[in-house]
Amino acid sequence: MSKTLSHIDPALLAERADAIADAARELAAFGWTPATSSNFSMRLDDDLAAITISGRDKGRLGRDDIMVVDMDGKAVGSDNRPSAETGLHTQIYRRFPQANAVLHTHSRTQSVASRLFAAEGRVHLEGWELQKAISGYTTHESVLDIPVFPNTQHMPELEAQVDAWIDSGKPLYAYLINGHGIYTWGRDMAETRRHLEALEFLLGCELDLRRLSP
Ligand SMILES: [Zn+2]
Repeated sequence: MSKTLSHIDPALLAERADAIADAARELAAFGWTPATSSNFSMRLDDDLAAITISGRDKGRLGRDDIMVVDMDGKAVGSDNRPSAETGLHTQIYRRFPQANAVLHTHSRTQSVASRLFAAEGRVHLEGWELQKAISGYTTHESVLDIPVFPNTQHMPELEAQVDAWIDSGKPLYAYLINGHGIYTWGRDMAETRRHLEALEFLLGCELDLRRLSP
């Protein structure tokens, strides 16, 4: 039987919606969500997630700007349209049972880095102390590869690329989409925000190195 909103504790939904709105407001203030772009979600349980409604200003979200979807990305208990990229969020929840929050932003740094590293198909991070901000990384000497997937408006194509990377056994903590932005996730909103801020910083450092290297 498919799940309905009545399966969800309203207090839990309100708490998750507030966490999404709080994160979105702060990320918008950083300038990482221009022109209503970007989307954010949190898991509610094994079958449902709360996600931003398409087209809303991410700096001014309230509880009414968050809706519920099932793990196939279909709206539950709402006539609103979820973000066009909802399938990428629910894919993360399906593939990573420990993931409880997904953040997707379109900062200038993320966008430029995705174009610059698209030909290599990944950003290879090594030697940066801040790699330790990614859960599971304990030393700057480790290698952190962030794949860059080609952009498409056809979400199943993107989902297939993400699946292929995971199925190949390579670790995945985040990915860039060429000319578009970044996806990252974590066990809760705080960990996911830490991942996003660290990756934004690391991508900025890589861009500076390219700019300054003779
Ligand atoms: Zn996007």
